[in-house]
Amino acid sequence: MKVHLKQIPTEGLHLEGDEECPISGLEEEGIRCAGPLHYNVDLGVTSGALWASGSLSQPVELRCVACLEKFVHKIQVTAFAVHTELCGPEAIDLTPFMREDLLLNLPAHPHCDRDAGRVCKPKQIETYEQDTKRKLDWSALDQLKLKG
Ligand SMILES: [Zn+2]
Repeated sequence: MKVHLKQIPTEGLHLEGDEECPISGLEEEGIRCAGPLHYNVDLGVTSGALWASGSLSQPVELRCVACLEKFVHKIQVTAFAVHTELCGPEAIDLTPFMREDLLLNLPAHPHCDRDAGRVCKPKQIETYEQDTKRKLDWSALDQLKLKG
């Protein structure tokens, strides 16, 4: 998202809209863009620096660490803030700042049931496996008893 400094009036500028997902190329990490970035940002220039503040929202497809199912999660950056010195160029690219804030707000261990309305299925399988294992342990004990 490039902003031309000439376009920013002294009282500031409000920008809201959609833009191409800035965190593409992370498919190997299990992160895939699931739609455009939505931004709602105020911009201004004061004493040789550009500031921006607002919110970002980016839907991404993640892989659940528990069931390995893919699910869509919306990264919400509620306090997007930038303050950067202006050193020459007439346009500032906010994309790297947005990318960084989105990545910081990514869940480190995504669970598909973190957002309400979805049940992580393998948890049930996991419990079932644990039960089976417990039964096996008991049968091993029983065999020991028989031998004794
Ligand atoms: Zn899951």
